[in-house]
Amino acid sequence: MKDSSQVNNPDALTVLPLGDLGKVLVQHANKYPNLEVHWDHTVDDLEQDDKGVIVRGKKSDGTSFQYIGDYCCGTDGGNSTIRKLLFGNRFDGKTWDTQIIATNVYYPMETMGLNETNFIMHPEHYFMGAKITRDGLWRVSYGEPADMPFEEVLKRQPWKYETMLPGKPKPGDYRITNINPYRIHQRCAEKFRVGRVCLAADAAHLCNPFGGLGLTGGIVDVGGLSQCLIGIAEGKTTDAILDKYDEERRRIWHEIINPVSSGNFVRVSSDPDVIAETDEIIQMSRKAWHDDEVLKQQHAFAYGICHDFSQYFDKVERAKADQTRKGQISVNHVEFVAGEG
Ligand SMILES: Cc1cc2nc3c(=O)[nH]c(=O)nc-3n(C[C@H](O)[C@H](O)[C@H](O)COP(=O)(O)OP(=O)(O)OC[C@H]3O[C@@H](n4cnc5c(N)ncnc54)[C@H](O)[C@@H]3O)c2cc1C
Repeated sequence: MKDSSQVNNPDALTVLPLGDLGKVLVQHANKYPNLEVHWDHTVDDLEQDDKGVIVRGKKSDGTSFQYIGDYCCGTDGGNSTIRKLLFGNRFDGKTWDTQIIATNVYYPMETMGLNETNFIMHPEHYFMGAKITRDGLWRVSYGEPADMPFEEVLKRQPWKYETMLPGKPKPGDYRITNINPYRIHQRCAEKFRVGRVCLAADAAHLCNPFGGLGLTGGIVDVGGLSQCLIGIAEGKTTDAILDKYDEERRRIWHEIINPVSSGNFVRVSSDPDVIAETDEIIQMSRKAWHDDEVLKQQHAFAYGICHDFSQYFDKVERAKADQTRKGQISVNHVEFVAGEG
């Protein structure tokens, strides 16, 4: 990947720790006078009918709360309570037999030939390395067998670092600030909309982190869903747009996010020299290094996970009008037949 630190490049990658991204989101949310953030509220129940939705739960001080709204959007992560209230424990897909060990570490790999974001391919010692703060903190994520106990992971970490990182560092050469194991999954809910309740982001789908399609997939869900809800509120479309949201966002997960992220994980844990002959993505990435046109095509492909729901606003209105007309026609017909009798 080319150096993405070019500030004027609209396609440059932005790599932030989740906590920092969260602060950016809160700053934006605070600009809306009609939006309130209620921290430490855990939802544990919901109820809906054709008029609205009620969500109930507990605050951190143990007191209960209840909110009533037109719609509820479940964005409560991979263990989503909202999804479980809709579908129970069903969340179709698979869990990989690898765990990802996500570490944050001070170690100046930018001076050792690495770019700010890197996917290092190797059958055993693959890793993702990205510089995540200006003061030199790196996120280094690598794989270990899923059944390896965490104590064993901790014991092996110095050897893994020494084997896979540039400069073959020993423990005194770097400072780790975090180390956490994560199970990785490819899973998708059977529907992203049930009545007045919608699911988005990890609550709706999960994928392995290689390629960065997890959070980005969630952001484009939320962008699309907000477009639909604002369209409904402004009278530009009807509630039927939420079926389109469900259909399109699941289609994109099944057709792009799932195969691309799965392919990325298989690719990063392969020997590049063995698969380069047959792997189109590796061939394209190698070409993109020297050819800006190919690089542009790669960037354009990344936008394939976006979807503009405003394109359906009129169509949904038309479909609704058609439906109403059809309904009137069939009612008139029944009345006519009844009258004849
Ligand atoms: C090791 C690893 C590396 C990753 N790297 C990348 C990457 O490089 N790029 C990328 O795009 N993605 C990456 N991802 C994926 C990314 O972290 C997730 O896709 C993203 O955080 C999902 O955001 P979310 O808001 O849907 O869920 P979460 O971030 O899980 O947030 C859910 C929120 O809901 C709250 N919540 C949960 N239950 C309830 C409840 N009952 N009531 C109220 N609130 C509740 C939680 O407290 C939390 O605040 C990675 C994931 C892992 C595990």
